[in-house]
Amino acid sequence: MLSYLKESLQASCPYKTNSFKVQYKLDANEAPWDLTFENKASLLEELINSTSFNLYPDSQAQALKEALAKHHQLKQTEGILVGNGSNELIQMLALAFLDKGEFALMPTPTFSMYKQCVQLVGGQALEVPLKEDFSYNIELFKEAIKKEKIKLIFLCTPNNPTGNPLPLSKIKEILDSFQGPVLVDEAYGEFSQASSAKTLLEEYPNLIILKTFSKAFALAGLRLGYCLTSQELAQILLKAKAPYNVNSFSQRAALIALKNFPSLEKELEIIKKERVFMSQALGQLPGVTVYPSESNFLLFRVKQAQSIWQKLLAEGFLVRDFSQDKYLTDCLRLTIADRATNIKFLESLEKILKSEAD
Ligand code: PMP
Repeated sequence: MLSYLKESLQASCPYKTNSFKVQYKLDANEAPWDLTFENKASLLEELINSTSFNLYPDSQAQALKEALAKHHQLKQTEGILVGNGSNELIQMLALAFLDKGEFALMPTPTFSMYKQCVQLVGGQALEVPLKEDFSYNIELFKEAIKKEKIKLIFLCTPNNPTGNPLPLSKIKEILDSFQGPVLVDEAYGEFSQASSAKTLLEEYPNLIILKTFSKAFALAGLRLGYCLTSQELAQILLKAKAPYNVNSFSQRAALIALKNFPSLEKELEIIKKERVFMSQALGQLPGVTVYPSESNFLLFRVKQAQSIWQKLLAEGFLVRDFSQDKYLTDCLRLTIADRATNIKFLESLEKILKSEAD
């Protein structure tokens, strides 16, 4: 069968997810808390009362788009698009803009789906390495824009897996030097102090802001993402959208989540505090270097990272191992959890580090 597969996919690997059954799942930047039983029950009740399961969902997700426009103080819904997870919108973008062999510019390391989606449609990922401190090298971006025929740019802020934000002024520099579509992925934006690039939407019709309900909204299981862009770009992206891509249940759940946002903000504050606590505590462990993060995860470097990853797994902690990545040698990424889990993690890691040193 492989010989029938399109050439651009021959060398690519499927997106890797871990299926280990562990007590502490800290590998995918998910929220540490589930919805309360009461919230889940009221969601189910609302779904039963208001939705016909035999009918397709609203393909345009109009009610949800109106709630999103209100949430983001946008005047109209025409520039909003929802997807089955923000992953689907990344795929739609690649489908809409890239023909075989065409270039998409992106940082490296970053969220692996950008490259994967580019390759899926036969495009080529032009990867711009981050600087040693993981900040973006904007000059290299601008050079690439001048030198190559770029069709699409991916930016991620705060960047996954490094955690650092890209300042608005730098995003503007890119937007000023490129007329084509620029995706600014703010999947972790709610955890950051940096301003959202949504303030640039009116000025730059080529800007697409990507957001998700999977992280701050704690709804990863329901698969819901969205983008904010210009009406012109949204119309183009619709050409690549599957009909009825977001199911009725998820559309309802997202509406309720938006209504409950004020109570969610308290939880965001807790995660931000835990991030400071964990960053300091990890940094005090011998041989551990923690990178500054404005997200709900921390990237840290430690010698023998692969062996430490194994030992953490044996203790019931699943973290993400990036140690084999060219730019992330010896790096592990940890999702911020609640205080009790964080403390257990620190105790286990300290014990493991001691055993490695013996
Ligand atoms: N963007 C970034 C930067 C991510 O880290 C992720 C998921 N880890 C996504 C997009 C996709 O998230 P989802 O499809 O759950 O919205």
